[in-house]
Amino acid sequence: MTAILPGATIGIVGGGQLGRMLALEARRMGYRTAVLDPMPDGPAAQVTDFHFAAALDDADALRRLAERSDVVTCEWENADVGALREAAGRAPLRPGPEVLAIAQHRAREKDAIRALGIPTAEYRPVGSEAQLRRALAEIGVPAVLKTARGGYDGLGQARIRAPDELGDALALVADGGECVLEGWVPFRMEVSVVCARSPSGGIAAFPAAENVHRDGILDLTVVPARVPPAVAAEAVRITEAVAEGLGVVGVLAVEMFVTPDDRVLVNEIAPRPHNSGHFTWEACAASQFEQQLRAVCGLPLGSGTLLRPAAMANLLGRHLPDGWQARLPRALAGGDVALHIYDKDEARPGRKMGHLTALGAHADAALDRVVRARRAICPDA
Ligand code: AMP
Repeated sequence: MTAILPGATIGIVGGGQLGRMLALEARRMGYRTAVLDPMPDGPAAQVTDFHFAAALDDADALRRLAERSDVVTCEWENADVGALREAAGRAPLRPGPEVLAIAQHRAREKDAIRALGIPTAEYRPVGSEAQLRRALAEIGVPAVLKTARGGYDGLGQARIRAPDELGDALALVADGGECVLEGWVPFRMEVSVVCARSPSGGIAAFPAAENVHRDGILDLTVVPARVPPAVAAEAVRITEAVAEGLGVVGVLAVEMFVTPDDRVLVNEIAPRPHNSGHFTWEACAASQFEQQLRAVCGLPLGSGTLLRPAAMANLLGRHLPDGWQARLPRALAGGDVALHIYDKDEARPGRKMGHLTALGAHADAALDRVVRARRAICPDA
């Protein structure tokens, strides 16, 4: 297979912060980018060469994106698969539409992971109140009902703590969409691994990262994850097995639970760069965005080796009250904290606006540093 070389145009489906960082990394490596995203001046549109301002299910716009591109990849996996399939006739689509179709649907995703012999939480597909009650009787409480499609950052989820407390879950089912009921995993830690896979099957994984969520949204990532080496190795093994099993070309993130007895269960997968992989920008030889570009262009993959322990703190809208910029110098003092701002128009409380990454001599030091830096910007963080 001939490689796609600098000077070529990378099509990116989706134009949020992931697309922005991908486009910036593409520019560094001498590629052009074309972004499909409805926002006129979104994070990626600001830094791309070509912008198609249209919805991600707009078949005509997807076709035009593919015609303008030498390869098309995604920063958001929920584009319309039928339209993507059609566009794939005009430029290679990496990852392919069949991978996106699996990642778009929680039940299909779990079926595919189980079919690879990899464990997940107990789950049942649910489409009606009767099915919900039956699934709950089988799985027990606590459990969580999630919409099968379109949920992210904890949206489209209802916790069920007792069999007669179905209020929010019934509302989700009543909305008419397909859902999945999952047994609640009493995890001791959440970890994730990002790996890149090239068209020839080569794989390079970054080390396992430890994640802390708040209100269903990623809050902090610490690398290396503070788990026994065998657990970290198992998380990497699982991620590589999923990438290979599904035939992913590009990057794949796998989010996992570590149980109190050190079993590793897959929660969900994302065939794109991931918030929990942002640390790679400063802490690894190649960032997750460089790896995605190398993978989709058929270049040799870079190394996923961690050069220094790191920690990442998300900056949500609620972390950036008016006047936050004036407090930045104090947060960045010392030279060991990097700032990323996505330049979004409106700082809604739960919206991802940027992140900080700190490097340290060890994981605890990096975590302490990044938390202090965020507190310097937002004392309530
Ligand atoms: P998700 O959108 O599936 O990634 O869920 C967001 C967050 O909710 C996860 O990162 C966990 O912190 C929590 N969560 C989701 N599903 C479960 C589960 N089955 N057991 C325990 N925690 C969960």
